[in-house]
Amino acid sequence: MNENTPDASQDLSALLDDVRRHLLWQEEAAGRVLMIDAKAALELQRSGPSLRERFARTHGAPDAAPAPQAPRAEPPPPRMPTVPEARPAGWERPVAAPQAGQGATVPARMPPPAEARPPVSRPLAAGMLVDAPPRQSPPTSGPPPGASSGERPTLDEIRRDLGDCRRCKLCTGRKNLVFGSGNPRAELVFVGEGPGENEDLQGVPFVGAAGELLTKMIGAMGYRRDDVYICNVVKCRPPGNRNPEPEEIAACEPFLRAQLAAIQPKVVVALGKFAAQTLLRDSTAITRLRGNWRTYEGIQLMPTFHPAYLLRSPAEKRKAWEDLQAVMKVLGKQPGSRA
Ligand code: SF4
Repeated sequence: MNENTPDASQDLSALLDDVRRHLLWQEEAAGRVLMIDAKAALELQRSGPSLRERFARTHGAPDAAPAPQAPRAEPPPPRMPTVPEARPAGWERPVAAPQAGQGATVPARMPPPAEARPPVSRPLAAGMLVDAPPRQSPPTSGPPPGASSGERPTLDEIRRDLGDCRRCKLCTGRKNLVFGSGNPRAELVFVGEGPGENEDLQGVPFVGAAGELLTKMIGAMGYRRDDVYICNVVKCRPPGNRNPEPEEIAACEPFLRAQLAAIQPKVVVALGKFAAQTLLRDSTAITRLRGNWRTYEGIQLMPTFHPAYLLRSPAEKRKAWEDLQAVMKVLGKQPGSRA
């Protein structure tokens, strides 16, 4: 069919009318002028009804009411993250429960309340106890000195076990090892610090000036010296009568404890700070320890001043006598001759 036939001309004329009316509508509706260049108009003229149909599909039918413009959509609000991207460990923002119809939100992980948290376990060293009381006795990793079959050793067995002791450096300067002397079944034991010069020479405890004073004190309590037992924390003389060092006390102390275990006295009188502090494992000053009853391995223990100190501080003899009177009261003794 020739495109210039009357039908084609009528169609093209109708199409151009439609285009004009649509352009007028657009100009009125949107305030804009749609520019169609000559090339586009020529293409419209050549394309015939098929282009009209495509135009109608794209822009709506020319005879139909103009399609209402969709309201301009507002730009979408910025999407807010529901879960922080980075927060300090353990911190989570509370998230409200999702409302009906809303999408599920990422559940927030909250730290459990304090009362719901599992208790924090504190690592403790093996064998360590919280608020453990101070150790009152030395570790018993083996039998006591002198023990051969698990029975309590006698003083003779302990002395044999001690032998020519070289367990600490005090052995290098001694002349005699001073083990102890007195009644092996005594109800009263005096424990001093260590041998002095005279004791080292004779091998007997408390035989010098301090020993003479102790002998008087014993007599004042109504005893003879042979009735009681006398020994020291360390069995060898510290050079120059210095104080025994901790490692020397530690080396010799087991033998002292074995002696007391063998004798099983009713009362121990600790003479001076080294005897009291060693047996009680208490670093309290002797001025505060003295005169106060303590317990050592089930045995009543009275700390008091050392006779050597009383020789230097005679005014303190009264306090020492008070301490010994308390011992006498426990043992049911009457005063003998006053020192
Ligand atoms: S002081 Fe005691 S441990 Fe030291 S050598 Fe003398 S007896 Fe042995």
